[in-house]
This record gives sequence, C-alpha cells and structure tokens, in this order.
Amino acid sequence: MKWEEAISDISLGSGRTRLRLIAGGRVQGVGFRPTVYRYAVENGLAGSVINSSEGVVIEVEGSGYDIDDFGRALAGKPPPLAVIESLKVSEIEVTGESGFSIDQSRSGARSTVLFPVDTAVCGDCLAEMRDPGNRRYHYPFINCTNCGPRFTIIENLPYDRPLTTMKEFEMDRYCSGQYSDPMDRRFHAEPISCPGCGPVLKLMDERGKEIDGDPVAETVRMLQEGAVAAIKGLGGYHLSCLAVDADAVEKLRARKKRPVKPFALMFRDMEIIRRYCLVSPEEEELLCSSRAPIVLLRKAGKRLPGNIAPGNSYIGAFLPYTPLHHLLLEETGVLVMTSANFTDEPLISTETELEKVMGKIADIALTNNRKIAHKCDDSVFFVPKGRPIPIRRARGYVPEPVRGNQSCPVPLLALGGQEKGTFALSREDRVFISSHMGDLGDIRSQENFRYELDSFRHLLEIEPEAVACDMHPDYFTTRLAGELGVEPVIRVQHHHAHAVSVMAEYGLEEPALAVIFDGTGYGANGKLWGGEFLLAGYRSFRRLAHIKNLPLPGGEMAVVQPWRMALVHLRNLFGDAVLDVRSVSGIFPDRRKAEVILNMAARGINAIPTSSIGRLFDAVSFLLCGIEEISFEAEAAIALEALALEAGRPSGNGYPVVGFSSGSIDPAPLIEYIIDSLRSGVDRAELAFSFHMSIADMVAKTITELSGVHQCRKAVFSGGVFQNRLLCELLFEMMESTGIDYYFHRHLPPNDAGVSFGQQQVAAARIASGEAGIQI
Ligand code: ZN
Ligand code: FE
Repeated sequence: MKWEEAISDISLGSGRTRLRLIAGGRVQGVGFRPTVYRYAVENGLAGSVINSSEGVVIEVEGSGYDIDDFGRALAGKPPPLAVIESLKVSEIEVTGESGFSIDQSRSGARSTVLFPVDTAVCGDCLAEMRDPGNRRYHYPFINCTNCGPRFTIIENLPYDRPLTTMKEFEMDRYCSGQYSDPMDRRFHAEPISCPGCGPVLKLMDERGKEIDGDPVAETVRMLQEGAVAAIKGLGGYHLSCLAVDADAVEKLRARKKRPVKPFALMFRDMEIIRRYCLVSPEEEELLCSSRAPIVLLRKAGKRLPGNIAPGNSYIGAFLPYTPLHHLLLEETGVLVMTSANFTDEPLISTETELEKVMGKIADIALTNNRKIAHKCDDSVFFVPKGRPIPIRRARGYVPEPVRGNQSCPVPLLALGGQEKGTFALSREDRVFISSHMGDLGDIRSQENFRYELDSFRHLLEIEPEAVACDMHPDYFTTRLAGELGVEPVIRVQHHHAHAVSVMAEYGLEEPALAVIFDGTGYGANGKLWGGEFLLAGYRSFRRLAHIKNLPLPGGEMAVVQPWRMALVHLRNLFGDAVLDVRSVSGIFPDRRKAEVILNMAARGINAIPTSSIGRLFDAVSFLLCGIEEISFEAEAAIALEALALEAGRPSGNGYPVVGFSSGSIDPAPLIEYIIDSLRSGVDRAELAFSFHMSIADMVAKTITELSGVHQCRKAVFSGGVFQNRLLCELLFEMMESTGIDYYFHRHLPPNDAGVSFGQQQVAAARIASGEAGIQI
C-alpha cells in the first residue's frame, strides 16, 4: 500500500494537522500497534491507536511534515508479519492533545479479526537464543510479537494472555517489563516467557519417569543412539528419529505399522536440504516463509536411507520452526518428523494421549508443560512449475480466513467430506476453514471434529443459520448435518463442491468448465463419480462428460487392491473371456481369484459402476509397477508417477490419443497400447510417462472441444488426482497451447479437504438467490 496514494487528496505542510487512518488487512495480532506507537513517538506526534472491527484505527496529530514521515515509515516498513491491504486516510479536527497512547480494543469489536496463526521463530529471537549473554540463551520457548505460537494456545478470544494456555505462567519482572513497554519487540507478545517464569522441558523414559540431565542434550544423545522420540511441538507431538539411521527408521515403521508411507524430514537449513533435493526459488521461498510448511521436493544428489520414502520421487522437507527444533537440529542435521498418531486417529497433543505411544512407538518423550489448545498438523505443499498448491492446509494457515467469492446474508457452516475432514464457518465473505482432521471414519477423529467445530463457533461467535454437506448418505458429516438442528440443510454434490472451491478462490464469474479427477465421490445419480467434466456455476452444474463407467468389484476392496481394477479395465477391452487372452493370462497367476472378480463385475454384484479416474491410475500402476495391494491412499498412483520420472519424457508423440465421444471417455485404447507395448518389450518407465501424457492430452482435447460447444473460455481443475506433480506440469503445458484460461488451486487443497469451502460457496450462492432448496 503506497502512502502517496492514500493521501493523494490531502496536502501536508508545516501547519498542525490531525489525520485519522484506518488500516485493513493482516494488521492485528502481528505487532502492528506497537510499531505505530514507535513511529509516532519517533516523529513527535500525538494521538492514539486502537483495534476495531474495521481494522486498526490510528489518529495522529502534529506538523504535516512529521505526519508525512510517519506515514511513509508505516506504509514502507510495517512489522514483518503485517500486510496492509487498505489504508483510508481522512483529515479531522485538531484537538491539541499531547502524547501518544495505545488504547484498549474497542468493546463490541468482533473478535474474529484477532485470531492469528502460529508463526515460525523469527531471526531476532534466534539471534538472542544463540547469544550466551542473553537471558534467553538456549531457551526453547523464546518468542516475540513477530513470532511464536498463536492459534494452538488460544482458548478464548480476544487474543490476550489470560485467555491462552500461557495463563498458567505468571510473568516475572523481566518479562512483564518487556510486555508493557511499547518500545520493546515483546510489547504485548502474549506467549512471552523466559527461563525465570515460562514453561519447562521434561524428558521422560518409556514408563514416564523423568530422565536427569539437560533434556535437549540427552534427547540428542539418545536419538544418536537410535532411539525413537516423541517431541512436543506447536499443535501436537512428532515422532522423531535420526534420518540417516536406516535401522531407527525401520524400527519406527514397524512400531507405527506404517510399511511404506513416506516420512517428512526436518532439515537444519537450506544448505543441507540442497544436498538431498532439488529446490526451485519458489520452493525455497515457501520453506523459509514464516508459515514454514512441509514442501515436497524432488530427490536428487546424496541419498538418504531408502525406507524414508520408498518408491517415491519426492521428500517432504521442512525447516525448524520452533526454537526447540533449532536446538535439536543444530546437533542432528536431519530428523524424521512425522505426526504422532495411530493410523487414521487424530494427532496426539496431551500427556494422556502421549501415554498410548510410550513404550509402543516411542522410547522417550521430550515434552513440556505448555498446553496445546488446538491440535494442528504441519501444512504440506507441492510446487509444480513454480506454482505452490497446498495438499494440507493446517499450521501457519489456520485459522486465517479465506475470502469467498459468494457473499451470504446469513452465517453458514459447511461440513466437508469424509476422508480429509475440514469444516468451513462463514460470516459475510470471510470463510474460516478448520485444520485438516483426517479420516472421519474413526470415532476419535469424529470427537476431535465436534470439539473443533464447537470451539470455532464459540470463538468466532458465529451461529450458522444454514448448514451444507455432501450428498453421500454414509458420511459422518452428512449425518452430523442432520443432528445439528440447523435448517435448511443444503446438500452439495461432491464434484460440484470441488469445482466451486477453485472458482471461488480466484473469484471467477460463472460458468466455468471443470475437470474434477479424484478417487470417488457420490454422484448426483447415486453412482460413484471421479472422472468428471462439468459446466459449473455457483448454484448448480451440468455433467458434460466423464470417464466410462466400470464396475468397482468389492467396493472398498477394489480401492485397496489395484489388481481388481486392472482386471476390470482388461475385461472392458477384451470382454468376458479376458483370461483366455494370451497376453493377459500371465498377469493374473491366480486364475480362480480373478474369475471371482470377473463374475462380480459381469453380474454387477457388489460392483457399483464408477467413473473414477483414480481407479484407472490404480489399474495402470498394477500393470506397470506390479502393486497388488496398497497400504495408504494414492500409493499406486505415487508409484506410477515415480516410475514415469525414472524414464523422463519420451521423444515425439509416443503416447496414444484417447478419444472423447458423446460424453463418455473410454480408456480402452490406452490399456490396449500398454498391453501391446509390454508384449513387445517397451520400457515400463517410458510407458508410465506415456500414460501421464495421454491423460493430459485427453483432458486438453476434451476441454478444447467442450469450450467450443459451450462458449466458455475458462477451466478449473480439482480433485485428489491433481496432487500428481507430473500430471499437473504436463497439463500446464498442454492447457497453455489451447489458449483457454486454466486455474489450479493455490489456497486450498485439491483433495477433499477443500470440499467444505466449495460447499460453503454453493450454499452461499443458493441462499443469496433464494434457492436454498434446489436439488440437482
Ligand atoms: Zn521473535
Ligand atoms: Fe473428492
């Protein structure tokens, strides 16, 4: 925001003047008021600064020249975490007052404006932590107005120390001196503490007995001896071991019953990351940002033990974001840092929950007595061709609201999907999205979901007057929508919600063409969808084309066992006698088992038709990588992408073109090409690459055709399949040459964690137009 533009109607001279400034944007809970105070005092101005529901309201009085200097300083050098989006300036009556004051927040100011995010420790605090002469030397809880815990310690609003989990620690004179000094970096830093008054670390053995000695030094020593440690962070515990110790990694895998799903790694600094991974400038910017998410980086250079991310081309990397992490990493360089939980259960964040993992998964626990008010996982991004796309939006981003495109006259609640639980609560165009709460099939995850929902409603003072949910009858969230007693309940088709989530992120006008590729979602016709081309508006949509419907034999079992879908795709190509085709018979050694599946498919018994493209990726992954059974979601697709990346891009048009006719896209030619090529000995990696090219090509051609028919020049992409970086990069390239505007997510994940936002926007549009009841 430019100061010159803000005061373009006002002339500032040497005479005494009084201005009122209203700053909007990210200006609260980021040390904005003390900075205003400092600049005002430095320029000898009188006046005041106060938080209000409109933003920060500043009044300054003094000579016009001094006010000008003040404004330039504030606009040019705001506090590091602040973003001034708007600055309204008006001239008011001179009062002749003297002195500058920071006033208490105006009562009635909606607390929603002060619900800040957790932030990585800042450079100033780190420098102090490393200074042996500083009172907070090696203090693992050092923080200031520019950094530290926020959301994860907030029990109630407004954001003020007695309403945080820091209330249990009474400030000593040193801290309270800094806390109340407007010229200090820690003025009103709510989590302020020092070794004299703050939380303390405790290292425990597997039976909960305290281990003597310096907790950090002892933890480091035991990690170096191969121990698995539970380490308390901002939003929960991590499980950690030395990344270079393959035996320790294996021990952690066995104990966590997690055979292959990749582990995230925390690296001491960028230099060490570069030894193991390729890093683009955009990836580096994200890694080093104050939000400090995990970023999926391409493996390169020095090798880490193969069991960190087996069969995967990427490593989930992040940098230390708490002072404690820095202390631990200084000695260890690279640590496995994976969320502490049992499969599908919520992240562990209390001492009681910690007991469940002690002895079973972790040998030691490095914990502390600062309570965690909200569980919050690490955020995850991937960055195809320099464009960051979130996979998990949590720590550092939640509870910052996302701006919706469809404003609604009443507050709304949208409950999201099932496997990546999030909800969205809205007031006007601000949409507050919860952190990612995992698979809601688990009862403990459901409890956590209810807890966070109650908590957000209370903290944000939002009483929803309508609730949106999926159309799937068996989702936990669909049932919850009925139990809340809020009317109307607006049911939104899953893929429509996906489409609208991207449209709203970019504020697009309707309609847009939408490519929604995911595992499975409940279709408007009771079938399972997941390979969809839609014409989407905010209120409703039309399904224009989809991947051919094929049976899903055994339902969930067909998702877990990719060989079943491979068989279904081969049957689609060769017919019922598929097992007698010579090039096929060798692929399924157990003929009896295969016949059972074929029978189910032929008779449609426990074999709902699905248009899911995720299942096509599974089938091809079985054919090329031989993955028979998966142990985590998308494992087959990830292996297929990794195989393709081994080959690199084949020269020329070495991929089959899959046609599109009358709404149904039949992948049979693609399967035929793969079977023929395998028989003639074509390299599997090259085939995996060709498969990705074919899919991207099919999408670009289909969108081009639909664009002509429906006179629509923009396309949006969503669904979990678009977490495939290779596919995204190929699509960027091919969409570029179509001349059609295309949009991928940037603020919300393409997977089902983004569905709550889409539902909220659909509901907002329907309510605003008085059509809350429409069904498609
Ligand atoms: Zn700091
Ligand atoms: Fe989905």
